[in-house]
Amino acid sequence: MKTERTIPGLRAELAGRRSGPIGLVPTMGSLHEGHLSLLRGAREECDTVVMSLFVNPAQFTSATDLGAYPHDEERDLELAAAAGVDLVFAPAEEEMYPPGFQTWVEVTDLGSVLEGEHRPGHFRGVATIVLKLFTIVRPDRAYFGQKDAQQAEVIRRLIRDLALEIELRVLPTVRDRDGLASSSRNTLLTPAERERALALPRALATRDPAAARKLLAESNGVVVDYVELADFDPPVLAGAIRVGTTRLIDNVPLEGDPR
Ligand code: AMP
Repeated sequence: MKTERTIPGLRAELAGRRSGPIGLVPTMGSLHEGHLSLLRGAREECDTVVMSLFVNPAQFTSATDLGAYPHDEERDLELAAAAGVDLVFAPAEEEMYPPGFQTWVEVTDLGSVLEGEHRPGHFRGVATIVLKLFTIVRPDRAYFGQKDAQQAEVIRRLIRDLALEIELRVLPTVRDRDGLASSSRNTLLTPAERERALALPRALATRDPAAARKLLAESNGVVVDYVELADFDPPVLAGAIRVGTTRLIDNVPLEGDPR
């Protein structure tokens, strides 16, 4: 496995590998089983697997949240190598946002509801960095997690609207043993907070917005940002809560739900 930190370096590495499919797995690091499932999926389907490792400041809405985001590059590189990644792209911030950067991509309507409403500018940051990764890597397939259902929907829209020749693969949400969706942010929870956070998957498992809201309202130490049905592909019941200073999102797909 090679680690590249510059755009020209990565492009040079990829130049000799374009005879077979290239898969891209964008991540912000602090890898867990959710990421590993995307890497394994890409490994099965692609000749070359590229993982990007970049904590994208533009998709954070607060400096505190960005500052608290967990980092452990050494561990991430070991896990990526073990998952069979060929190339890691781990650029510095200036490589992705050079001085004077002012070009943004916005998925307007979809990017302004649910997560977008609670985190203004979040999906502009996501869409911009993902499009930039797409133009740098030029993957045949890109892998995203159902855990971030709205993000997957935003990327699907971006690919369609801009006629990008990229196949989107969305893989199921991986959960820890207790039912909490695996997330880099879970490491920020104290054991007591984690116990409280379990109210989110339990509430969403009802597949009923009213029942889910009621369960969460009865849970101590949980602040609900939203619990909503979302007409994504597939439709989901999605929710976001805050437990202490940590914000968590989750969703359950509602295939076949007549609604
Ligand atoms: P992140 O590093 O949090 O930006 O996530 C990178 C990718 O991993 C995104 O496509 C996420 O949707 C996906 N991902 C994060 N958590 C999970 C999970 N628990 N199950 C499946 N995919 C996930």
